[in-house]
Amino acid sequence: MASIRKVGVVGAGQMGNGIAHVCALAGIPVLLNDVSPARIKDALAIINGNMARQVGKNLISEDARKTALKNISAADTIDALSDCDLVIETATEKEDVKRKILAELCPVLQPHAIVATNTSSISITRLAASTDRPEKFIGIHFMNPVPLMELVELIRGIATNDETFEASKEFVTKLGKTIAVAEDFPAFIVNRILLPMINEAIYTLYEGVGNVEGIDTAMRLGAHHPMGPLELADFIGLDTCLSVMQVLHEGLADSKYRPCPLLVKYVEAGWLGRKAQRGFYDYRGEKPVPTR
Ligand code: NAD
Repeated sequence: MASIRKVGVVGAGQMGNGIAHVCALAGIPVLLNDVSPARIKDALAIINGNMARQVGKNLISEDARKTALKNISAADTIDALSDCDLVIETATEKEDVKRKILAELCPVLQPHAIVATNTSSISITRLAASTDRPEKFIGIHFMNPVPLMELVELIRGIATNDETFEASKEFVTKLGKTIAVAEDFPAFIVNRILLPMINEAIYTLYEGVGNVEGIDTAMRLGAHHPMGPLELADFIGLDTCLSVMQVLHEGLADSKYRPCPLLVKYVEAGWLGRKAQRGFYDYRGEKPVPTR
């Protein structure tokens, strides 16, 4: 079975930095690429800070942090990923963006290399079909924040071969994560259930049934959710939430998945949640303040 000795990550946003973080701690050399060199620089600083926090909480040793940081390098170009055994695409949740990356990436890789996507919702089979290696293409869907969340969904496309599936299983297990195998249907398991709940919370706000604070408090204390749904939407990123709802709506052709117009409005405003400092809450001050 192909062994994964070196990993490439394309997209150095919140998921890309988390994936690089867990690979490095597991002793796997990892190269981090992004269309924006500034995002790579920010990601390296975030990883450093997050690992320091883990040291502070006695979750890892200072030596482990130092060793792990040496495992991560910036890849300024896609060409720099040419000797990776696995490349995980984790760029913006837009199919055209992902297709463009795959078209650039596959020709520079060795024939044995596995290509994975961390998409939250887009068809693995369709993305695979746009590459030169559908049998070596798979969905490896990490949860946010990657260093803390225990689960990874593995999604085979129609052509994914057993060798790719087994090598991916071995890789995810080495990261210390538990696997849930999902079939290749829109949004897989976790987001198929979670995102309609978040979208419904936004409708609840849109219709004035409750305000931001009321809805989040209701679900935290009334359903024992660790985070309220609007807080969680901000954490995921409202652009990602909208993209997932659009994929569910189009892919399953059922009006129950219609994205809430208020979610669309927040995304159009550029209020994308925590990463933009504003979403259902405003994060620019000391404490998050509801925006409605
Ligand atoms: P993000 O907005 O934090 O980061 C996306 C990154 O992709 C940015 O740094 C951007 O510069 C980069 N990018 C855009 N175009 C690129 C290109 N052509 N080449 C290289 N890099 C490019 O988004 P995120 O939350 O990290 O999400 C990334 C992926 O992970 C999406 O597919 C999303 O659905 C998935 N995902 C997100 C979550 C979540 O909770 N946010 C959870 C699981 C999976």
